[in-house]
Amino acid sequence: MPSPEYVPLYQWINGERLSGAGRETSPVINPFNGDLLGEMPHATDADLEAALQSSQRAFRQWRKTPAWERSAIILKAVELMRERFEQFVTILTLEVGKPLAEARMEMGLTIDSMIWAGEEAKRIYGRTVESRLPHGRAIISREPIGPVAAFAPWNVPALLTGRKIAAALAAGCSMIIKPSEETPGSCLLIAQAFADAGLPAGVLNVVLGDPAHISRTLISSPVIRKVSFTGPTPVGKELAALAAEQVTPVTMELGGHAPVIVCDDADIDAVVAASVPNKFFNAGASCIAPTRFYVQDAVHDAFVEKFTTATKAIRVGDGFDPATQMGPLANARRLAAMDRLIADALGHGAILATGGKRIGDDGFLFEPTVLLNVPEDAQIMNDEPFGPVAIISRFSDMDDAIEKANRLPFGLAAYAFTSNTTRAQTLSDELESGMVGINTYYFGMPEAPFGGVKQSGYGSENGTEGIDAYLVTKFTHQG
Ligand code: NAD
Repeated sequence: MPSPEYVPLYQWINGERLSGAGRETSPVINPFNGDLLGEMPHATDADLEAALQSSQRAFRQWRKTPAWERSAIILKAVELMRERFEQFVTILTLEVGKPLAEARMEMGLTIDSMIWAGEEAKRIYGRTVESRLPHGRAIISREPIGPVAAFAPWNVPALLTGRKIAAALAAGCSMIIKPSEETPGSCLLIAQAFADAGLPAGVLNVVLGDPAHISRTLISSPVIRKVSFTGPTPVGKELAALAAEQVTPVTMELGGHAPVIVCDDADIDAVVAASVPNKFFNAGASCIAPTRFYVQDAVHDAFVEKFTTATKAIRVGDGFDPATQMGPLANARRLAAMDRLIADALGHGAILATGGKRIGDDGFLFEPTVLLNVPEDAQIMNDEPFGPVAIISRFSDMDDAIEKANRLPFGLAAYAFTSNTTRAQTLSDELESGMVGINTYYFGMPEAPFGGVKQSGYGSENGTEGIDAYLVTKFTHQG
């Protein structure tokens, strides 16, 4: 039986809820106990076609809606989301298993990000340049790119759908969004808030179902003018290739494998106090999670001891229990990945300082884990664990640490801790990463761009760059 606390699931197309009618379904599961939350209907080909047609129609109207009106609708939707805050929190904890405090943090970030985008709608500026014709006008304007297809993952489902929606709508685009098949609830609640705020039908459509089929259908359509994807790097490569066939631009926010360089002049107690909650936030399923800790010789042993002690003290359990600090992994795939990566590391001579095992048999709980002495050729040093595993290695020489930090094909987030300003400058210059945190893990600022380099993707969300991603440039020369 579906859970009464959960939300009804449906396709949201052209202002209508579509479900049943022989549509295939798949279960949405509570990762804490394996209970069924709801049955998710899959979009049919006719649904996807209807979504495309209504998105195109709605775009023609929405692009002409004045920026202040677009902004007012986005901000009204956000106000409604604020009123419904605790419902969102419940859905996030049910679907992802995250502790209530983390679900609240995600909703706070979602709301901030959407407010930022809503306000930015009013600040989309073009410019004029001097014409070379005697009475000419040379105008450079910024226009919405067109209907967008967006794809979001399961780890931070409200934030990663909400910020895409708000930025695209702020720019004057329509959007068809597919949330993860494992966490569709919060995206439907966001769409409801927009409908209640007066967003015209079709400007935002939500489709659910088989990711490969939906992404292929939408991205191959000439209606779609922009793709925005957050998720695994291998999937990102497939979608970028599909988009390239239509020469459709893509914003890609893919995987990471964040290094953390801890220098011998850092305040170790403060670094551990910041690192442990950030490592195990969302059970480690964050693309900016600190993962490879490189700690300088003189402070290495103290760091390991303090980090391991703090990790052992983490209370793992039901996200709805206010005492819980880490919930379950979000799905059975992550559990299998943890087993595989940890066994491989141990087979390569790694030392297990703590953790390493599943907890219980019902849901997907896993022990917060610390691995030491992991050689660089172990899988976990190369594949993003996306789970509750910290890897601590030592270094002597700063150049060596920077080289190790940069050796992977990823570059989303990188961190360093030092009290020496020269070192801080060198680290910020040398780390190959879209985001660098010096003496902080804090990137939760919607006014700053969020995005990676190398195989972590291209383009940014948030910041002025996040709106720019949905705009094209036009040069009009009037003689
Ligand atoms: P997976 O390969 O099972 O992919 C599942 C995710 O990708 C789902 O969100 C799914 O909807 C989407 N997806 C899969 N195929 C797709 C397709 N053809 N078109 C559109 N979407 C598609 O991976 P997983 O087990 O869920 O996660 C494993 C890895 O994914 C992690 O190690 C991490 O690197 C990455 N990841 C990154 C982020 C991020 O925020 N950047 C979020 C989630 C997962």
